[in-house]
Amino acid sequence: MLFRAIQIQVRCMSSRSKVGFIGLGNMGGPMALNLVRKGHPVVVYDVFPESMTQLTDEGAIMVHHPAEVAEKADRIITMLPTSAHVKEVYQGEQGVFKSAKTGSLLIDCSTIEPDVSFNLSEEALKKGCVFLDAPVSGGTVGAKAGTLTFMVGGPENEYESAKPLLQDMGKNVVYCGKAGSGQAAKICNNMLLAISMIGTAETMNLGLRLGLDPKLLAGILNTSTGRCWSSEVYNPVPGILPNVPSSNNYEGGFGTALMTKDLGLAQTAATTTGTTIPLGSLAHQLYRLMVTRGLGKKDFSAIYAFLQEMENAK
Ligand code: NAD
Repeated sequence: MLFRAIQIQVRCMSSRSKVGFIGLGNMGGPMALNLVRKGHPVVVYDVFPESMTQLTDEGAIMVHHPAEVAEKADRIITMLPTSAHVKEVYQGEQGVFKSAKTGSLLIDCSTIEPDVSFNLSEEALKKGCVFLDAPVSGGTVGAKAGTLTFMVGGPENEYESAKPLLQDMGKNVVYCGKAGSGQAAKICNNMLLAISMIGTAETMNLGLRLGLDPKLLAGILNTSTGRCWSSEVYNPVPGILPNVPSSNNYEGGFGTALMTKDLGLAQTAATTTGTTIPLGSLAHQLYRLMVTRGLGKKDFSAIYAFLQEMENAK
């Protein structure tokens, strides 16, 4: 107990100690940039060196593998695509666990299987470190603006010590419970997001076919009971909102392959808990179809274009 209290104190005292950041893609890149801009000394690593250019231009230090990040920093954030990538980064030959210092705080913000988060937290504990799962909501827009919501799982006192760092990248930091609980909350959110995005896409498509102006229809939905984040903030129809992927050929944003992965996590969770998720399962299959048609890298709002493509093939 006393040992743990000393560890936390050490981290609090060194709140400007180096922060390691691994995985600098659509989300991790802008999150790490916010830390640099808030004055944190940041050490970065990504398998694609080009993804670190802007960060190093603004003062981050680039290293060559995750173990080197752990040698240089005792607070490490990871933002990687899937469970397999996260396991590789922590447990691989040159992984974080190879050289993590005692008392290090390891925060994984990727969306992965709750069981993998739980197992990594157990392994971290054996190495004298703390592992928190802290997946995010808010998309690339929230990552850039520093307004993300973090859903945190792990020991509550460790959540408290991680909070100031997470607040430098987000607006809401919510404690969800034991290790893996952050992932559970995130999986539920994304299943609803996929369902509401598909609903918005089919609704907009039907309205257009009925001869309605898309901006007019979006405006009506957004002041009526059909309103949701997908209709209001992230409308899937090109030209309705200026700074969203649908108005940029569905580039950037949240990839369809990643949404498909999250729906797969929901499906596994539903099977494990014996829960019925008919719409979640249907959403999973629709997004899988999009991936098989080569749309995995497009933003998940491209479901609108996909529906139109299926109709045009009639
Ligand atoms: P991304 O594919 O854009 O970025 C992932 C980064 O990880 C890439 O730069 C890749 O090179 C790097 N990477 C992969 N393997 C690596 C390894 N072994 N070592 C170091 N770096 C490695 O993905 P993203 O959109 O940033 O999403 C990351 C996570 O955040 C995913 O789990 C996703 O589900 C979740 N998420 C994404 C969004 C979004 O809107 N994009 C929103 C919320 C949550």
